[in-house]
Amino acid sequence: MSPEDHPKTDFAAYVAKQALAESHPYALDDDARIAVVGGGPTGSFFSIFALKLAKMLDKKLNITIYDPKNFTKDGPAGCNKCAGIISELLVQTLAVEGINLPDSVVWKGINSYQLHTTKGSVSIATPSFENTIAAVYRGGGPKGIIGEHKESFDDFLMGQAIKEGAEHVPRKIQRIEYENGKPVLFSQGGEIEQADLVVGAVGVNSGKSGIFPDMGFGYEEPQTVKAAITEISFDEEIITEHFGNSVHLFLLPIKNLKFAAMIPKVTYLTLCILGHDLNADTVRDFLAYPVVKEVLPKSVGYKLNCRCLPKMNIRAPKVPFTDRVVMCGDAGSTRLFKDGLGAAYIMGKAAANTAVLHGVSKQDFQEHYYPVYKNIIVDNQFGNYLYFLADLYKNYGLLTRWMLQIVREEQSDPEDPKRLSSVLWNMFTGNERFKNIFATAVSLPVRFDLWKAFARTLVIRR
Ligand SMILES: Cc1cc2nc3c(=O)[nH]c(=O)nc-3n(C[C@H](O)[C@H](O)[C@H](O)COP(=O)(O)OP(=O)(O)OC[C@H]3O[C@@H](n4cnc5c(N)ncnc54)[C@H](O)[C@@H]3O)c2cc1C
Repeated sequence: MSPEDHPKTDFAAYVAKQALAESHPYALDDDARIAVVGGGPTGSFFSIFALKLAKMLDKKLNITIYDPKNFTKDGPAGCNKCAGIISELLVQTLAVEGINLPDSVVWKGINSYQLHTTKGSVSIATPSFENTIAAVYRGGGPKGIIGEHKESFDDFLMGQAIKEGAEHVPRKIQRIEYENGKPVLFSQGGEIEQADLVVGAVGVNSGKSGIFPDMGFGYEEPQTVKAAITEISFDEEIITEHFGNSVHLFLLPIKNLKFAAMIPKVTYLTLCILGHDLNADTVRDFLAYPVVKEVLPKSVGYKLNCRCLPKMNIRAPKVPFTDRVVMCGDAGSTRLFKDGLGAAYIMGKAAANTAVLHGVSKQDFQEHYYPVYKNIIVDNQFGNYLYFLADLYKNYGLLTRWMLQIVREEQSDPEDPKRLSSVLWNMFTGNERFKNIFATAVSLPVRFDLWKAFARTLVIRR
């Protein structure tokens, strides 16, 4: 998330509505029931903020989070399949909201990244404090190493929601139908509750359940691509000595691959490969690629603890809400190829603000939730242009060389504004909006630096 993304809590509108004593058939009354389907970050953020707001307004809400996963379990049973990079800005913003991530949940040691290409490597230091990044575990960790050095981010957030008053029911919701204008939830064939609001925070990785598309209000599951993640265990000293406090980022001319990142996490390395339609061979082929082999320690073997091919949302659904139903997080709109956790916070909070302060009708979501939802969609269009540019830079050797040359010069001069370095940092690991990164990427000084690199190549060739 970027500093511009803070969801605003519009108490003034609420107070004005109360003063006018408007009766709104879709307002959440005292003792209203909310069913949150999915207890990942989005479902937990929604619950935390809805309950906090309700308390401030002296209202009681009954929130039940349905999710069959146990986030304390290691391996796939407790994992929501993610590289776990979060921005320091999100860590600080959550602290201001009263959600303090303990050191066992967030690892704050990352101070640079190493960019690896076929034309060489370069180290890029954190551009500024706001752009610092950290790493979290999404579940109990890779298979076979439960409890070492870490706690689960998803479990921690769910715990915060429960502290605020939510209840977690470990069930998978299988069907939702309207009865007398209100949604009714079904699990294992039986009816379990009628709710005043259903929050769809189901992500994109639980198979095609069809629950929300089958409700018939026009929602279709987001368009997705397959990514690849693997966790590789090493001794702690090897991780410290070999990978240090850097995320290792790979921009390589491999078909279907956008970029890959290795994130050191004390005794493990998370390797995350993003692109289009990756398959079971992707990890093996990637680890055998010469540039990658150079980065891995040569003297010691390694073991792949876990691997999976999770889906990523690359296009948000057009109809994300109706009366008494709202879709959030990965099941709605999220950032393209980065910062899904920041987007979960923004969208979870925006949905909570709308529901508690304004109401749960289609019109309420259209007026107060959709502008935030649309913002991310528009910003992702700039993201698409940027990833297209990145593809050019990694696929054409001359461009790769120029990019490295400029970044090396920027990094060696403490006075340099480091424009291209910050473009690269923010695109792959940072929290800046794509629109702002795009503006820097196509700015005159960056184009001038490229022309300089081009002219230098010509001179050297002559
Ligand atoms: C390869 C990869 C790497 C990523 N790396 C990063 C990263 O480094 N940083 C970052 O910020 N983001 C990253 N993301 C994105 C991030 O993982 C998501 O944006 C984030 O998890 C979205 O949270 P969510 O709560 O919306 O969905 P999820 O985390 O997917 O949670 C959905 C929950 O809903 C539950 N559920 C599903 N169906 C039902 C049902 N019928 N009934 C009950 N419960 C149900 C599931 O069990 C699950 O717990 C990455 C994603 C991928 C695929």
